[in-house]
Amino acid sequence: MESSDDLRPATIAVHSGRPPHDPDQPLNQPITMASTFVAGGGREYGRWGNPTWQAFEEALGRLEGGRALAFSSGLAAVDVVLDLVANGEKVVAPSACYNGTLLQLADLEARGRVSTTLVPVTDTAAWVEACEDAALVWLETPSNPMLDVSDVPAIVAAAHAAGARVVVDNTFATPLGQQPLALGADLVVHSATKYLAGHSDVLMGAVVVADEQIWTVLKGRRDLLGAVPGTLEAWLALRGLRTLPLRLERASANAAELARRLAEHPAVDRVRYPGSGAMVAIDLPDAATADAATRATRLWVHTTSLGGVESTLERRTRWASEAPEVPQGLVRLSVGIEDVEDLWADLAQALDSALAGNAG
Ligand SMILES: *Cc1c(COP(=O)(O)O)cnc(C)c1O
Repeated sequence: MESSDDLRPATIAVHSGRPPHDPDQPLNQPITMASTFVAGGGREYGRWGNPTWQAFEEALGRLEGGRALAFSSGLAAVDVVLDLVANGEKVVAPSACYNGTLLQLADLEARGRVSTTLVPVTDTAAWVEACEDAALVWLETPSNPMLDVSDVPAIVAAAHAAGARVVVDNTFATPLGQQPLALGADLVVHSATKYLAGHSDVLMGAVVVADEQIWTVLKGRRDLLGAVPGTLEAWLALRGLRTLPLRLERASANAAELARRLAEHPAVDRVRYPGSGAMVAIDLPDAATADAATRATRLWVHTTSLGGVESTLERRTRWASEAPEVPQGLVRLSVGIEDVEDLWADLAQALDSALAGNAG
């Protein structure tokens, strides 16, 4: 087999995690429904491993340039990584990022397990300072939902100088947009629910690491806690991963074009778009205008979550758990792979009607 170094990401996405090319082998790794395996091998029991998970892990590991472990959800992956932090140690994290991550951190802090320092994503000097006595530095870039970008190399340098580990939640960028391990991070977390699986039909998570020892610790936690993915879910996520490069290419082109047009629309105060990827956020004047816009779309689905082939949108602060710095009128757009003219026509009419409704 070729080493991953020889192949480009679009080829890895299609070819990795398959059975060997031997006569009568299936082309795709089958869905192995098994709670236990015949004794004497390395797998033994269904909580400790499964060939279908392993196929997904092989493909994602190669794309990220490390070794992957699949989990039952993105938040299960977040949980095992935060569990690496010893009692009383400090975690540095973004002041606004995925709210489930912030809720887990708040819960750990409330129970006296860890202390946390929350830092605005783009304030690199504050990150560098906060790293000094940290054990774990949590990055999410681009961040949810404001799409701010961290200075990863500068923060990695400061964290490592202080002996802290760095984890990057790479859900928004995907391994095609950025490979955090190559930027010096120690761990990568994914909600595979989003772009990796890509069809809004699966909940799954993953952690990817460069270091074999951390992999073994995390695998031990997964064995013990049982936050394992379903076999069908792992199969669907790998099937989705096959087309990630194609989906992202179209969705990113759509996002770039929509970001350009949205900047010209009179209802839009600000477009938040990091210059690549398929996530865009817009600041509308207030919550009422934002709610009116999300109610007025016909094609775009008003829903939470992101990263599917279909375009979706929501006002993030409809969730009380969203970080206080997120503007009330911010609408997050997950741009799909539809025809961009249809997407624009629907979005433009929804914004026009929200604006007219507010003025009238
Ligand atoms: C959705 C999401 C998560 C949590 O993943 P689940 O699969 O929903 O548990 C974590 N991080 C980011 C950035 C997300 O968007």
